[in-house]
Amino acid sequence: MNKDGHSEKVLTLADVKTGEYGVIVRITGHGSFRHRLMEMGFVRGEKVKVIRNAPLHDPIEYEIMGGHVSLRRIEANRVEVVPVTEEVANNYLFHGTVTEETERILGKVGKTINVALVGNPNCGKTSFFNHATGMREKVGNYSGVTVDSKLGYFKFKDYTIALADLPGTYSLTEYTPEELYVRQYIMEQHPDIVLNIADASNLERNLFLTTQLIDMNVPMVMALNMYDELEKNGDKLDLDTLSELFGFPIVPTVSSKGIGIQEVMAKIVDLYENLEQHTKHIHINYGVDLEKSIDLIKEEMKEHLDLSGAYSTRYLAIEMLAGDKVISNLVGKFDDDGSVGKVADEQRAIIEKRYNEDAATIVSGAKYGFIRGALLETFTQGKDRSKQPAYSVDKLLTNRWLGFPILIFFLWFMFQMTFTLGAYPQAWLESFFGWLGDVITRVMPDGMVKDLLVDGVIAGVGGVCSFLPNILILFFFISVLEDTGYMARAAFIMDKLMHRMGLHGKSFIPYIIGFGCSVPAIMATRTLENRKDRILTIITVPFMSCSARLPVYLLLISAFFTKHQGLILTSIYLLGIIMAVVTSLIVKRVAFKNVRDQFVMELPPYRIPTFRNAVIHMWDKSVQYLKKMGSVILVATVIIWALEYFPHRGPELDRYTEQIERVGEDKTLTEAEKSTQIAQLELDRSACQIENSYIGRFGKFVAPVFRPLGFDWQMGVSLITGFAAKEIVVSSMGVLYHSDAEADENSSALQKSLQNHTWSSGPDIGKPVFTPWVAFGFMVFILLYFPCVAALTAIKREAGTGWMLFNIFYTTGVAWLAAFAIRLLSTLAVGC
Ligand code: GDP
Ligand code: MG
Repeated sequence: MNKDGHSEKVLTLADVKTGEYGVIVRITGHGSFRHRLMEMGFVRGEKVKVIRNAPLHDPIEYEIMGGHVSLRRIEANRVEVVPVTEEVANNYLFHGTVTEETERILGKVGKTINVALVGNPNCGKTSFFNHATGMREKVGNYSGVTVDSKLGYFKFKDYTIALADLPGTYSLTEYTPEELYVRQYIMEQHPDIVLNIADASNLERNLFLTTQLIDMNVPMVMALNMYDELEKNGDKLDLDTLSELFGFPIVPTVSSKGIGIQEVMAKIVDLYENLEQHTKHIHINYGVDLEKSIDLIKEEMKEHLDLSGAYSTRYLAIEMLAGDKVISNLVGKFDDDGSVGKVADEQRAIIEKRYNEDAATIVSGAKYGFIRGALLETFTQGKDRSKQPAYSVDKLLTNRWLGFPILIFFLWFMFQMTFTLGAYPQAWLESFFGWLGDVITRVMPDGMVKDLLVDGVIAGVGGVCSFLPNILILFFFISVLEDTGYMARAAFIMDKLMHRMGLHGKSFIPYIIGFGCSVPAIMATRTLENRKDRILTIITVPFMSCSARLPVYLLLISAFFTKHQGLILTSIYLLGIIMAVVTSLIVKRVAFKNVRDQFVMELPPYRIPTFRNAVIHMWDKSVQYLKKMGSVILVATVIIWALEYFPHRGPELDRYTEQIERVGEDKTLTEAEKSTQIAQLELDRSACQIENSYIGRFGKFVAPVFRPLGFDWQMGVSLITGFAAKEIVVSSMGVLYHSDAEADENSSALQKSLQNHTWSSGPDIGKPVFTPWVAFGFMVFILLYFPCVAALTAIKREAGTGWMLFNIFYTTGVAWLAAFAIRLLSTLAVGC
């Protein structure tokens, strides 16, 4: 019995026998475990019937809210209950609100809230404890000789609060007995609420402990003590935002005077009664490398350990990665073959090698990055500048006026480098594939296999390969900017702007990657914390014109625009960005009406990037793109080639062949006349062949869809082949407009044939198909319509089939409408 007179022995669901009933008092364990149980219906006040609980039987079967569920015995041990008789149970109804009856049943057992005071030394815990409990514990600057906690009880509203004054610690690692004690207390006693007391006049240091509590995923309220000091310094803190960023209530207090204590208690009761509804659990983002390691360790835990919700696996994984011996031993007890420890050791070694730093230091660095980000957003320094957090570089880079020009400079530099440096290897690759095609043409006998190799595989894959250098260079620069920590600052200054479009500053990075390739960009959205941000970013990223579309623009712009070429290209890119903004705004309104979420933008420590790391990160991003080239694009080019190649014979084609033979044998012509005539006939023959091929027939079938846009069937077919990969559009056009015309110094062969191409039927017969307007409409269509199959696969994987389908129809619909609008404009402007 404790001094309040009720039993300290709590009953749990595992103790209730078959056929008996219990009413739930509380669930202990870490946040996501509690959350899962609550989703199954295990909430305070709910009644449970035990269907089957045999002594050696695991899991145990329960009836709750009319349904049957089973819990493992160790899980059931975490659900505290008050046993009730069948009669009481049958009359008892609970509709999610605590009634008088609930109160009566739960009685005293359910009316005790265990609260643990956790905070740095001298932040005012004991003062708080004394004021709250009315006890007179010694207050002042002493460090406890014995490591112990004081327990005090007091009434608040209808509850008995059991408040534990724990020793002060700066951290919750294993280095001092106090730290160990506090951590063990939290992990094993499972206080209902952890009351984190932080010294407001020394926030940065105090919040470090808070980040560890966040990792542990415990239900939390924060008392921001010494608030008088903060005000005296003239500092300003946006408490609402900070509370929203952290995901738990924050109350300002002056505990030496007892100010704010009632408010804290009110929040505690509130949180206890509606656990999980008022709070969200946030994850501190440790950066790509550490997150990857944490995930791997977690995976291994899921496979090998039966931790049963006692501890947050993420927390354990972080601590093991940081090399915490105590946690490693704890996990080791559950882990019979030691495989988790092995993975953790491996990952730690990888991380330490890569950063050339102690893993624990890297983890703390990331924690401070989180704190820095949170404070930069909420804290304004008053007069005392000596206490100012010393991030002068951040002050500059995130400065309201200088931040943007600096960002624009970096982006400009990055894209400039990508295309100027990339031009060399691109040219080498192009000439290499050209040479390869020539060699094969010369050495192989004529026939289908040769055509397949030269026109299909080499032309298709070669064309795509020549973009690889640009992609790699772009990803290299992005990785360098990320590794230095600059990207996080860029996200920070973009945040306000991105918020206007319903997005988060962090979406900025996927967007930038999207200019290279949508696939890694979509993968990069994983760093966004909430689903709304992720989905909005994923479905709008394809509007960032990927580098694969660039060759189409370059082709058309140089063929049809002699002036303002740069301006036109820029306007295409801008239009993509505008469409992304508009789409995001619309989808947010429709699909995510009431989601409002703010997250801390971590400002990780600045690091000098190493070449090795940048290459590793570049590689991570490129792998997806390379896979796409090796599989999808190869298969697609072969399929498209086959659709163009077959049927390969037919009466009309045979007629051309005969004619060619006849010309060859004609004695009245000179050799020169012969070869021009034959060349012309061969050209006509292949045009006729394509027109009658499967893809030609299909193109003509869908031509009416494209006709209102001023596109002919060849354009339609080229667009459709872009489904495989946008790079293919240009090679399809090359085939469909049989670009064997002579190139001159001003334009390539393909450009020439586009310029000379005329309508062969319909009202415009004889008029050129491509006008600058049509070319522009076509570019806009290319920009906006459905993403390639690789990007769609990525969307499906990250957001689900529904969003993928939405994306296909939405983007294509928008593309059609936009191109149609351009067509209308052109009719008005030119009158044709
Ligand atoms: P603990 O080490 O966390 O238990 O902190 P104490 O409660 O022993 O307080 C340390 C010192 O800070 C004492 O001198 C308190 O009087 C003082 N103190 C506590 N809370 C406040 C506060 O809100 N404002 C100010 N100005 N001083 C406080
Ligand atoms: Mg104390």
